[in-house]
Amino acid sequence: MNEYSIVPQPLAIQYLPGFFRCSALPAIKTPEKSAFQGEIQVFTDQLKDAWSAAHNSGGNDGEIRLLKTETASAEEYYRLEILPEGITLAAGTGAGIYRGLQVLRQLFLSGYEAGSLSVPCGVIEDRPRFPWRGFMLDCSRYFYSVGFIKKLLDALSLHHVNVFHWHLSDDQGWRLPVESYPLLTEIGSKRREHRLWDEFSGGFYTKTEIKEVVSFAAARHIEVVPEIDLPGHASAILAAYPGLGCTGGPYRVEDRFGIFEDALCAGNDGIFPLAEAVFDTLAELFPSRYVHIGGDEVLFNRWAECPKCRKRLSELGLSEPAQLQGWFTARIAEMLKQRGKTAIGWDEILDSIGKFPLPKDTVVQSWRDEEGGNRAAALGHRVIMSPQNKGCYLDYKHIDQAEEPGRLRIGTVVQAYSLDPVTPTMDKTAASLVLGGQGNLWSEIIYAGRIAEYMIFPRICAIAEALWSEKNSRDPANFARRLKVHQRRLDKLDLLQYRGPLD
Ligand SMILES: [Zn+2]
Repeated sequence: MNEYSIVPQPLAIQYLPGFFRCSALPAIKTPEKSAFQGEIQVFTDQLKDAWSAAHNSGGNDGEIRLLKTETASAEEYYRLEILPEGITLAAGTGAGIYRGLQVLRQLFLSGYEAGSLSVPCGVIEDRPRFPWRGFMLDCSRYFYSVGFIKKLLDALSLHHVNVFHWHLSDDQGWRLPVESYPLLTEIGSKRREHRLWDEFSGGFYTKTEIKEVVSFAAARHIEVVPEIDLPGHASAILAAYPGLGCTGGPYRVEDRFGIFEDALCAGNDGIFPLAEAVFDTLAELFPSRYVHIGGDEVLFNRWAECPKCRKRLSELGLSEPAQLQGWFTARIAEMLKQRGKTAIGWDEILDSIGKFPLPKDTVVQSWRDEEGGNRAAALGHRVIMSPQNKGCYLDYKHIDQAEEPGRLRIGTVVQAYSLDPVTPTMDKTAASLVLGGQGNLWSEIIYAGRIAEYMIFPRICAIAEALWSEKNSRDPANFARRLKVHQRRLDKLDLLQYRGPLD
């Protein structure tokens, strides 16, 4: 290996003559014993991926020194110096140290051959372009195991992904235990699979498991943002508590996919104690200051026909049933604020707001295209970009081939690589409101973690680079060359990957 082939591409690399070589795990040293112990522990565990077990013991003939620098230019800044006599990693924070260690992990994964490690000498300086580099996993349509989620988070952190958007509820299953609403999990977490001879599938994450995921992620400097989708995509809630729907049911936890007419009844005050109980549970389990409230794909015909919703509409002096969503969003955003949380919603929360404008601090996640993000930023909202037409939807096919898994559309690796969360129509103020972007894996057609891996990799590598690296370093041909080396690293992490044309 003559080049580092790091993904995402660092800000600056200067190659120096010579190689850092060693045949045993290098010792990691810190100036103070207490510094960066969490990061060192995670990295040491990860190194076992790069090193074969046979070479785990033996004399230390290499050394990695970690330094805390007071002059870091950004929170996640790091400087990595690789010399024949040893490696020095300097950063101002644990997050910076962790990002630098992941780059080192990449170099070790590709530099380890037949019992010894060889890495070209050089100096790398790096920091991210955007603070929000996310990945969403839909755990409603497919109920992924905690073990799989941890494997995925660990691999994502290799690419400096720092937000795990955990989609915990949808029509096809509710995954969060809420003590005062036990039927949410008793009924709402399981669905009858009519296609599979009436098998049941599903489950939910226990509080212990959720805390385990949150702390596993935190150790990798990933923030976990939970999503509970309201007021639409609510079949699982309604199956558990049919009184909260406009018609009273019967409802079922869906095993079909699509957009369903039934939503929480906007005229029923009972929906708010449920939301309060859910938010209390989220506040207890998730330290993140954000809660994603969904808000997408609400069909308003039930609200239009429902006497309770019509009564609410006239009490509020609204003209269109759709405007009830603006009222609902403002109300639950306020509930979150009382718990010290900030709401994030899909871009539909900007539609039909009527006389209840979206609270200013609400973050808008653009998904239908970039337009929602443009509009949100123009209105002064912070924005997360994950437009489905820019390669951010990882359930789409990689290429247009009948044999490829995926649905709805095509989203190539090159398309994902071309993502730019700051769009040409944004002025400077609007651009400053863009937090970053995400890759999203909806799981309607996924029935095993292995298939999820194939859909995620390597598209998430491209998205991670689009979010981390400077725009002027964007070079698809160069990325494709680095990706070849990088995919062999991911093989060592036992990830199933798409290997076909990138475009
Ligand atoms: Zn209603």
